[in-house]
Amino acid sequence: MADSYLAAEWHGTRSVDLVPKTIREPQAGEILVKVKAAGICGTDLHLIDGGYPGCRPPLVPGHEFSGQVVALGPQVEPSWLGRRIGCDSYLGCGRCINCLQGKHHLCRYGPRELGVHVDGGWAEYVIVPAENVFQLPDNVSFEEAGAGCILNCPLAAVEKIGVQAGDTVLLIGDGPSSLMMVQLARLAGVGEVIVLGHREKRMRLAKTLGADRTIDTRAWEIRSFAVALRKRPEVIIDAVGKAETLNWALELAGVGTRIHFFGLPAAPLNGLDLQHLLFKEILLTSSTGNPLLWPTAMRYLSAGLLRIKPLLSHRFRLTEINTGLACIRQNPGEIIKALLVMD
Ligand SMILES: [Zn+2]
Ligand SMILES: [Zn+2]
Repeated sequence: MADSYLAAEWHGTRSVDLVPKTIREPQAGEILVKVKAAGICGTDLHLIDGGYPGCRPPLVPGHEFSGQVVALGPQVEPSWLGRRIGCDSYLGCGRCINCLQGKHHLCRYGPRELGVHVDGGWAEYVIVPAENVFQLPDNVSFEEAGAGCILNCPLAAVEKIGVQAGDTVLLIGDGPSSLMMVQLARLAGVGEVIVLGHREKRMRLAKTLGADRTIDTRAWEIRSFAVALRKRPEVIIDAVGKAETLNWALELAGVGTRIHFFGLPAAPLNGLDLQHLLFKEILLTSSTGNPLLWPTAMRYLSAGLLRIKPLLSHRFRLTEINTGLACIRQNPGEIIKALLVMD
């Protein structure tokens, strides 16, 4: 094994630098992973643009990655060596009630995250806690597992809001997480799945993946959405995270509609019309992800119930990372999900 490796490190500017790093021995409870694929997520762009709370340079981003276990620290089960793995990014204290339930993302002492607060997977190697990794089924590729958040967070959202058979589900936003939630809603046996968006390529894909209808937000006024919907949805998921989209959700909701807030706001939301929340007795929930759901995500992928390959639209080598970032910034509609693919 090499002594050093290449990593993409953020130094506080809007790009990353490729730097050599020395491989260190994994400590107790840690695993050294040779990274095979790593996702480039919207969160990474927030982070590199300096807009992510608690994130300080220098840092190797990459909270979504998969790879092969190449070395183990003390107190790690020896059978992990050589396995193909994916990794949850959240690091908790390990002692609070939520961490003891496996919900490190809700650590009462403030969760930290690989690739956000601690060096992550935009590198040839990464060291991770053994408790964060999960084994990939033989028929799930590194690329599929490297897609990260869009495998886990949509599952958490659909579970939290309680999507049920027969529901009409309205998804606001045509991003990759929405395209996964279309499939999850179908699996739950919902009556109708409708996607509100504006990027044609993604809207077409939404239909291929199971959406009954798509509504182009560029062509309609909010009052027209309500007419186009025909009935008020039981479930609305705002996968954009802007005041405008949350207001759409509140206005389009019926009495007792369940709204799930999923999109990450880039700034505080001003101008929310919360009267609807009161007068329709709307249930408002939120989620970011759930480490406990990785085995479910892997089983769904392995069984062919979830399709992620059609979403993996762009691949870049580690040395091309800044090209990849520029590409995503310039063509947000063209790129559905981009990956770094290592040799
Ligand atoms: Zn904790
Ligand atoms: Zn992510």
